[in-house]
Amino acid sequence: MRVFKFGGASVKDAEGIKNVYDVLQKVGYEDVLLVVSAMGKTTNALEVVIKDYFEKSSALQSSVQEVKKYHNQILLDLFEDDKNAVFAAVKAQFSDLEYFLAHNKSPNYNFVYDQVVSYGELISTTILAHFMNHMDIKTEWIDVRNFIKTDANYRDATVDWDLTQKNISKNVKRKMLNITQGFLGSDENNFTTTLGREGSDYTAAIFAYCLNAESVTIWKDVPGVMNADPRYFENASLLNQISYREAIELAFYGATVIHPKTLQPLQKKEIPLYVKSFINPLLKGTSVSKGVTLEPYLPCFIVKRDQLLISLSSIDFSFIMEENISEIFSLFHEFKLKVNLIQNTAISFSVCVEDKFDNFNELNAILSKKFKVDFSQNVTLYTIRHFNDAAAETVEQGKNVILKQISTETMQIVTSEN
Ligand code: ASP
Ligand code: MG
Repeated sequence: MRVFKFGGASVKDAEGIKNVYDVLQKVGYEDVLLVVSAMGKTTNALEVVIKDYFEKSSALQSSVQEVKKYHNQILLDLFEDDKNAVFAAVKAQFSDLEYFLAHNKSPNYNFVYDQVVSYGELISTTILAHFMNHMDIKTEWIDVRNFIKTDANYRDATVDWDLTQKNISKNVKRKMLNITQGFLGSDENNFTTTLGREGSDYTAAIFAYCLNAESVTIWKDVPGVMNADPRYFENASLLNQISYREAIELAFYGATVIHPKTLQPLQKKEIPLYVKSFINPLLKGTSVSKGVTLEPYLPCFIVKRDQLLISLSSIDFSFIMEENISEIFSLFHEFKLKVNLIQNTAISFSVCVEDKFDNFNELNAILSKKFKVDFSQNVTLYTIRHFNDAAAETVEQGKNVILKQISTETMQIVTSEN
């Protein structure tokens, strides 16, 4: 079996959905499982719905309306005849969502988040499955929540591999086209959970692992994995081959093409991951598999903006010892600050972190009791894997470098915009 993942950008409008059909015609669809994300920016739009819901904002109705209108337009563009059963199916899903918003009693933000945001994927896959059937590709729509079981850590749920493996081995039908939702799962009580933003790649990997799939293909609007983001770097080149290990390193440093959790299950079973263009599906794209580290062997650039550089030093010139470091790390963990770089000397300790949840002020108050805390906001972290002088020069040129760290394969540079 092959597992294909189509992300939000690939199904953002009727053209995109027709294109999925074209891709399937070209590359085959028998014995295939499609994992699909919410259409376009639907997840973000549903996040607005959740915000309005919790703020009891009068805008709630119109934010729901917006999501409806967007999907309705896609339906009208796809199906000439509004008698098609898909109209009623999508309508029913929106009614479910509205029912939930009207009757929910839970004050738990993360719980509500998952119940609401999941409609993005439920609806996208409903539309896609009806369209395939309409085009005479017989498909089986499957509700991923009956397959991927997780704990109840809403918004970042952990997969229960044993249960998931059992469900998938027993119930996924082979020799046909299956369509299911990325990003979602369900807990012990069958409440919807999600695997973390951009989690659909991971869903594809979970299915591939449990099905012993032949491969996973992530279909993208770029030709494959590039050695740099073409938006920020001239002369970005396509990488033909990356080893699992190198891909894990790149994802670790923040390369966004592949969701970090995705690679581990694939690597375990040596299932190759292809990243290909949904515009030119017959081109080879990038293969992540067992094999050479990187081909062609080029420096790879990863840029992370909006970072926070924190330096801690001891108040009394004493050494920063292991127990301090471990305490600092557990605090970062507790406050959900993601550490992207570490540098330490005898009496100081610097980290570059991402403060997605705006927790730094609170943490700073705690740290300041024990350490002298200095910090710079809005810094940019550049990571260059397989660096050379020219690559470093490209990054440093015209920038204010405030920290630099070099290991055998990796150079990291923190800059502040001047
Ligand atoms: N729709 C979800 C998100 O935007 C999951 C995904 O796209 O992978 O985060
Ligand atoms: Mg998405």
